[in-house]
Amino acid sequence: VSLLETASPTESFDDAGVDQVDVAIVGAGFSGLGVAIRLRKAGIDSFTILESADSLGGAWRDNTYPGCGCDIPSPLYSYSYAQKSDWSRLYAGQPEILDYLRGVARRWKLDEHTVFNARVVSAEWDEPISRWNIRLENGGRVRARFFVSAIGPLHYPSIPDLPGMDKFGGPIFHSAQWRHDVDLTGKRVAVVGAGASAIQFVPAIVDRVESLTLFQRTAPWIVPKADRLFDARTRWLMRWLRPYRSWVRNRLFWKHEERAAGFLGEPGAMEATERLARKLLARQVPDPELRERLTPDYDIGCKRLLISSEWYPAVSRANVTVRSTGVKELRPRTIVGTDGSVTSADVLIFGTGFDAQETLTRMAIVGRNGRTLAEAWATGNDAFLGTAVSGFPNLFIMVGPNTGLGHNSQVFMIEAQARYITRCIRRLRRRSHGTIEPRAEAESSYNAWLQDRLSHTVWQTGGCRSWYQDARSGQNTVLWPDTAVSFWRKTRRVRFADFLIGSGR
Ligand SMILES: Cc1cc2nc3c(=O)[nH]c(=O)nc-3n(C[C@H](O)[C@H](O)[C@H](O)COP(=O)(O)OP(=O)(O)OC[C@H]3O[C@@H](n4cnc5c(N)ncnc54)[C@H](O)[C@@H]3O)c2cc1C
Repeated sequence: VSLLETASPTESFDDAGVDQVDVAIVGAGFSGLGVAIRLRKAGIDSFTILESADSLGGAWRDNTYPGCGCDIPSPLYSYSYAQKSDWSRLYAGQPEILDYLRGVARRWKLDEHTVFNARVVSAEWDEPISRWNIRLENGGRVRARFFVSAIGPLHYPSIPDLPGMDKFGGPIFHSAQWRHDVDLTGKRVAVVGAGASAIQFVPAIVDRVESLTLFQRTAPWIVPKADRLFDARTRWLMRWLRPYRSWVRNRLFWKHEERAAGFLGEPGAMEATERLARKLLARQVPDPELRERLTPDYDIGCKRLLISSEWYPAVSRANVTVRSTGVKELRPRTIVGTDGSVTSADVLIFGTGFDAQETLTRMAIVGRNGRTLAEAWATGNDAFLGTAVSGFPNLFIMVGPNTGLGHNSQVFMIEAQARYITRCIRRLRRRSHGTIEPRAEAESSYNAWLQDRLSHTVWQTGGCRSWYQDARSGQNTVLWPDTAVSFWRKTRRVRFADFLIGSGR
């Protein structure tokens, strides 16, 4: 349901009862907290984090499915200035990551700056006073000089609207809204989707269920996950020997950076990874017929490259059936595949991922001259450096268009963006009505460069359709088509010549 329906941004926004703040940050995940910390470090304390849920953590609060964890080594999946020294394992599980984020928020006293149960439904630029008028679903209103969206790239579950959902009769839920009250023991479970979440929860539940039927339209490419517990000695070294901790993090970072070349279309750069993936499949799936069904039919890297050493053994078990088909409809305790197959099930779990395209436009964002962001993005989401949009003064977007990563830690990008945004805000600090927005020419030449680079990537040439792409244009609007370091270079300094800086009134 579009939140636009509930928002009415053009209603009057009189001053009574409005909270005034310099910076309104929407969302309390890695991004929102990261921006808040940067602001704090820059001596800016007039900020409020507006969070729709009743606690912080974003993706790591919502995704509590069995087996949930990161697929980037934990030493990398943390802020550079708040490195955790006691990760229990190389790829930490969800509880540990959530705990880390809570600790970070405590350390920077961010709770006192956060308003929970505060879902933002609209934000309208008020030209005469150079402020954003922000409305909350609960009727609250906030007025801010700067509006920073940190609502997350993977927050809104993508749930297919299947005919007969109301007739199924058993529990139906999405992996990001896991029903811990549903006991799967001895149940016939159907799973739709074989993406990054399914690959984690299927191995974690397969022992418990009577049967599991997997509906996958396309098989994912998978490489082994070299997960391990950190032993006491490593943990001691990480804790007490800073250079060692930095060395571990740096080594992991550069190892992951090397992987970018394969996605960017460099000839031969994916060969070793493909060999690794094929070897894993051959070793873990001896049955040739099943192996055939688990073999992807597109170039490696085109869709998200997954890591797991447990997936193939799990789906090879006797109680698992892999159906290479989508779902056509649901009937009472029955799932009908698009291939006509009929499967009995007690519980249906969607591992269908997230809507990464329509995120920000779920809020009614109205910029200069009454133009909405939905209108500006009618043919596709784009932004200058994925961070700011011409015609939308003092608006910044964390993990905006084409700032996602498939090869390295998103937290690195988040830090780069948070620093960049803070610098823009700091520049205007002393001009109480100052405005900053990218010049249209800077934005369009940046986007021409971006599209040119994207056209050579495996995401566009590898023979697949993916959630990275906008269905309207087929363009990848999610991923950054270069190394993470190149994004850091582009955002290290703000080239103010790329921006229109106004004095307001
Ligand atoms: C299961 C899972 C595993 C992942 N694993 C990795 C990994 O291993 N490595 C990696 O680099 N990345 C991973 N990611 C990607 C992950 O999205 C990012 O790394 C990072 O967590 C994004 O943080 P964020 O703060 O931008 O978004 P989120 O964590 O999604 O936080 C957004 C916050 O905004 C709030 N919000 C949304 N809309 C509104 C609104 N209208 N009003 C108020 N508040 C709102 C939400 O409630 C949420 O708290 C994973 C994602 C998922 C879902």
